[in-house]
Amino acid sequence: MKYSDDFYMHKALLYAHKAFKKGEVPIGAVVVDEQGIVLASAANSMEKEGCQTGHAEIRAIKQATKKKKNWRLNDCWIYVTLEPCLMCYGLIRLSRLAGIVYAASSPLFGAFTNNRALSEAAEKEIIIQQGLKDAESIAILKMFFTHARKKEVDSESQKRFFGTNGTRITREKK
Ligand SMILES: [Zn+2]
Repeated sequence: MKYSDDFYMHKALLYAHKAFKKGEVPIGAVVVDEQGIVLASAANSMEKEGCQTGHAEIRAIKQATKKKKNWRLNDCWIYVTLEPCLMCYGLIRLSRLAGIVYAASSPLFGAFTNNRALSEAAEKEIIIQQGLKDAESIAILKMFFTHARKKEVDSESQKRFFGTNGTRITREKK
């Protein structure tokens, strides 16, 4: 059964909360197949894995690939609480995903926010929707950076890591 985009993003946010509880930067990702079945859900686990590839998107795509026994995730969608970085965007493209729905934008590491050329090129290849539940995603990221890490992070650095402008871009799914 296919649920709404809200449902899947809500699930991704639950994984962001799981990351938060473990002291990780709170980011979650969910991979859904063409029938709307959740193939994989993952939380950012960079600190635990001690590795840059512990991003939620990479973990979720790896799980989905295992489940499908196929690296081609055609017609699948990924829901992620923060704009994918270049590394994750590369894996998303290599995995042939049909669409990306992300919540908050990331001016610091986001693949699209600071790269208009890439953003335009990407939109020819994959459907990208931004801004769904971005307020929830920003709220937990803010909480993490101001409390969990117990260090002063000024609002300017926060804004670089996750955007605060709530522009929602929605494009029709095929
Ligand atoms: Zn990433």
